[in-house]
Amino acid sequence: SISPDQATAVDPALAARLPELREQYAALQARGLSLDLTRGKPSAEQLDLSEELLSLPGAGNHTSASGTDVRNYGGLAGLPELREIFAELLGVPTEQLLAQDNASLRLMYDCMVQAILFGVPGGDGPWSAAEGPITFICPVPGYDRHFAICEELGIRMVTVPMTPDGPDAEAVAALVADDPSVKGLWAVPTYANPDGSVVSEAVARRLVSMPTAAGDFRIFWDNAYAVHHLTEHETKTANAIELAAEAGNPDRVLMFASTSKVTFAGAGVSFLASSPANIAWFTEHLSFRSIGPDKVNQLRHAQFFGDAAGVRAHMAKHREILAPKFAAVVSILSERLGDTGVATWTDPDGGYFVSVDVVPGTASRVVELAGEAGIKLTPAGATFPYGQDPQDRNIRLAPSMPPLDEVRVAMDGVATCMLLAAAEKAAA
Ligand code: PMP
Repeated sequence: SISPDQATAVDPALAARLPELREQYAALQARGLSLDLTRGKPSAEQLDLSEELLSLPGAGNHTSASGTDVRNYGGLAGLPELREIFAELLGVPTEQLLAQDNASLRLMYDCMVQAILFGVPGGDGPWSAAEGPITFICPVPGYDRHFAICEELGIRMVTVPMTPDGPDAEAVAALVADDPSVKGLWAVPTYANPDGSVVSEAVARRLVSMPTAAGDFRIFWDNAYAVHHLTEHETKTANAIELAAEAGNPDRVLMFASTSKVTFAGAGVSFLASSPANIAWFTEHLSFRSIGPDKVNQLRHAQFFGDAAGVRAHMAKHREILAPKFAAVVSILSERLGDTGVATWTDPDGGYFVSVDVVPGTASRVVELAGEAGIKLTPAGATFPYGQDPQDRNIRLAPSMPPLDEVRVAMDGVATCMLLAAAEKAAA
């Protein structure tokens, strides 16, 4: 894959191609397309893989393996048999994993709100009691909804660059060393949104062991794509919870995951894994908010998968649908832009996104041109806090939703827009 860090310089010769590219773009517009590469949603074909869930657990089938009647209240930690399956997949003890309702984002939000209102284990009171703002470190490019949570709750965001091995750990270590207002770090350890990078063992070790001025520093380890491989190689991310405990910082890592992109994006199961102290902390506050999660949904998920191998086999079916779409994105970008210097892009081994860096100063123009040609892209800047990409160069592509032939058409159009925006800039 091509490193997104490689600087893209505009080739002055591109200016000469401006008339030709304007014609190509006019022809693209004339096709009257209506295509959408904005959000990382599973396609209908992927959702169909889990259709059987809709008839599970079925009338008369409401007793869990441990004898619980799932129709009733209770069981705050979630159904043990489902927790066991995902504990194995996520590499954590079952007692340290909660199974909850349909959105891991809500678990992240709840952790943040609880920390602000009540504080966290090992801390000295609510984060909100500190003088001045709370700060979170946001690796960029990153996931817009992480940034949106911070923005809504008034948390200041500072950025560090992403590297092919995850967040720039030295930059993070420098930020946390002296400033006690820095309370946390966002990280997507496996096939990150959007750059597809995987946190290396060395980076994970550094992040869980670095000294922090805040005694209650937390890493929001959002393992949303833990089992979402695009190749036959099932990448295993460093076990941050175990490493943190070894490093003497057992409470540093909060791990999140869900089946949103395994079964149904709107009706899956979410997971929180962490140290015993953090799990007790989360559960205590949870008990005021809920008498128990949707165990019927959890039972049907457990029955549908059977075991961890069942999840892996199911993910291989997703891969068969998704891999050709990602291959199309990367091959069209290579064919159309390969030797032009107009963009660099990632070629991820998993996850849901391709991250493209175009000529600095042209990302928003590319998105505008694409939009006017009927190809909706994620707004430029979305991968940065406050929606502001200081270099206006990163674009997140999400090829999962449209059928393969539409992905091809859309990407060819997007390549035209990238070339035209670069040529406009070269001519300016
Ligand atoms: N985290 C990341 C990194 C994501 O990309 C997504 C989905 N786009 C989510 C979390 C959302 O997860 P959930 O549906 O479990 O809230």
